[in-house]
Amino acid sequence: MSNIEQTLSIIKPDAVERNLDNEIKEIFRNKGFKIIKEKKIQIEKSEAEKFYKVHETKPFYSDLCSYLSSGPIVVMILEKEKGVLANRELMGATNPKDAEEGTLRKKYGISIDKNSVHGSDSLENAKIEIDFFFKD
Ligand code: UDP
Ligand code: MG
Repeated sequence: MSNIEQTLSIIKPDAVERNLDNEIKEIFRNKGFKIIKEKKIQIEKSEAEKFYKVHETKPFYSDLCSYLSSGPIVVMILEKEKGVLANRELMGATNPKDAEEGTLRKKYGISIDKNSVHGSDSLENAKIEIDFFFKD
């Protein structure tokens, strides 16, 4: 039985602004992820609010949505064996200070808000998030 899963990855504005998107994409490929679809876009704050709706009661919600819509992002569908968890592991902890050596957030993250990458946290949310950006 195959455990190939698709997950949504976002290279956030702080990383795109530093021209790290190609370097980060290369890391994903080297770790065995296939980039199935990708696009560089900038979203409205209202779209970020929909995307992060699960966090709407959190104190950081408004700043988070302003930030995600503050500049270009690269959204990708990644595919790999147990891809959802594999991507979360490669990303590292939400706060770069807590992220392990070898993770993307350890390497590139600036702060808990400017933490360079987003990744779906479950297979169910991966499907929802992929649809959010790629349903056409
Ligand atoms: N975030 C923040 N302040 C916090 C917690 C989270 O700015 O105290 C931001 C951070 O950029 C994070 C995003 O909100 O990536 C979503 O939070 P979540 O807990 O879902 O973390 P993730 O799944 O991205 O690791
Ligand atoms: Mg999350």
